Amino acid sequence: MKFSQVIGHKELLDTLRRNIDTGRVSHAQLIVGECGWGTLQVALAYIQYLHCPHREGGEPCGKCPSCVQIENLAHPDMHFTFPIVNPTKNPTSDSFIGEWREFVKAHDAIFDQKEWYEAIEAGNSQGIIPKKEADSIIRKLSFKAFEGEFKSVIIWMPENMNREAANTLLKILEEPWDKTLFMLITEHPEQLLDTIISRTQPINVGRIEPEALAAYAVERLGATPESAAAAARIADGSIIALRRVLATEGAAQTDNFELFTRLMRLSFSNRHLELFDWADQLASAGREAQKNFFEYALGLIRESYMLTAGLDNLSHLWGQEREFCLKFAPYVANHNVEALVAEMERALRDLVQNGNPRMVLTHFALATSKLIAMRG
Ligand SMILES: [Zn+2]
Repeated sequence: MKFSQVIGHKELLDTLRRNIDTGRVSHAQLIVGECGWGTLQVALAYIQYLHCPHREGGEPCGKCPSCVQIENLAHPDMHFTFPIVNPTKNPTSDSFIGEWREFVKAHDAIFDQKEWYEAIEAGNSQGIIPKKEADSIIRKLSFKAFEGEFKSVIIWMPENMNREAANTLLKILEEPWDKTLFMLITEHPEQLLDTIISRTQPINVGRIEPEALAAYAVERLGATPESAAAAARIADGSIIALRRVLATEGAAQTDNFELFTRLMRLSFSNRHLELFDWADQLASAGREAQKNFFEYALGLIRESYMLTAGLDNLSHLWGQEREFCLKFAPYVANHNVEALVAEMERALRDLVQNGNPRMVLTHFALATSKLIAMRG
C-alpha cells in the first residue's frame, strides 16, 4: 500500500515518511488507535516505503519485487502475527496466513477483531496470541533477510498475547535485532505490559477526516455524494462504522422502495383488502421507519414528477427506481401530483404528532388508491 492509498491521515503520513527518509526508524513502534481508523493501513504503507529500494517522490515505486510482494502481503521479510483460535489444532498465525491475506485485501486492510474472528469462523471465541507464536517470531528473525536489508514483524492486536507470549516478546524487544522492525498495532495499549510499552515508540493514529471518509464511500462503496457525506458525519472517523451506516441505510431504502411500489400497484388495481394489509405492515414497523418511508416516498414522487415533466436532467433517479417511475409516470402527473404530495405530508405530520398509525396509514392508503385510480 502506498502512502497515497491510505485513507486520510496526511499529516501523520508526512511525519512517518520524513522519519524514514532521514533514517529515524525506531526498531519497535506501537501504533495506537481503533481498527476502523486505519491503523493497519498505516503500518502497511510504512513498511512498503521502508522496504522499497526505489522510492520516488515520497512514495514506494510500486513496481519492484519488494513492493509487489508487500502489496500481496507475501514478502518473505514481512511477518504477521495476529490472534487466532483453537491453538492446539492451529498453533500459530501461519496456520491462518491464507485467510489473513484474503481478508486484509478484501477489506482494504480495515476490519476489527470481531470481523476477523467471524472470517475464521471462530464464532464468539476470543482470539489469542499464544507462546508458540512468540517462539515462531524468534525462529523467523534468526534467518538473514531474504531480499533487502530489513525484516518487519507486524503484531496485530498484541493485547491478546497471553503472559508467556508477552514475556517472550518483551525479551525480543529488549535486545533489538539488527535491521528488524516491530510494528505493534493496538486498540488497547492499557492492556499491554508497561515494560513492552516503554520499549516502543508510539504512533497515535486518530480518527479519519470526514472528507476522506466521504471520498472512500463514493469511490469504494458506491455511495452517492449526498449519502456519503451524511454517512461520513455519522461514522465519526471510522471506516468500519462508515460501512455499517451505508449498509443499513441501503437496506432501509430497499424496504422503502418495496413498500412504495407495492402501494402504487395495489392502488392502481384497487385492491382494497391488500391495501389494509399494506397499512398494517407499515403501522407495525415503528414510528422512525414510518417517517423514513414518507420522506423517501415524497422524494420519489418529486423525482418521478420531474422525470415526466420533461425535466429529466434534474432527476436523480437511477436503477430500479428510475425504471419503476418511468413505467408509472402516466399515473402520477399534473392531475393528481399535488393531491398525492398533500396526502403524504398530512400522513407524515399526523404520525409525527402521535396519531394512531393504523388509522393514519389506512386512511392514507385508501386516499392514495383513489388518486392513483383517477385518470388524467
Ligand atoms: Zn518498490
